[in-house]
Amino acid sequence: MYYPISCTRCGHDLASTPGPVTAQPNDWEELNCTECGEFHATLGAWEEQQTPDRLRFLNKSRSLMMAMRREHDALIEQQHTKGERVA
Ligand SMILES: [Zn+2]
Repeated sequence: MYYPISCTRCGHDLASTPGPVTAQPNDWEELNCTECGEFHATLGAWEEQQTPDRLRFLNKSRSLMMAMRREHDALIEQQHTKGERVA
């Protein structure tokens, strides 16, 4: 499970919990930067403080996925058109 952060050491924007992924992660699990391993906060503290950022991150992810989907569809369309030309 990955969580958006702002790393104080390297500026990376993703942290992860070291433990196995569970449906209900414990509040005391530690978030560490995925880039440099810097300890960021416990999951409970992160959730209390970062909710607005998390929502922004989710929105960003959604727009990115939609953009990728459009790109993918355009590519398929392009290949389809080329295929018809060859045949
Ligand atoms: Zn870092």
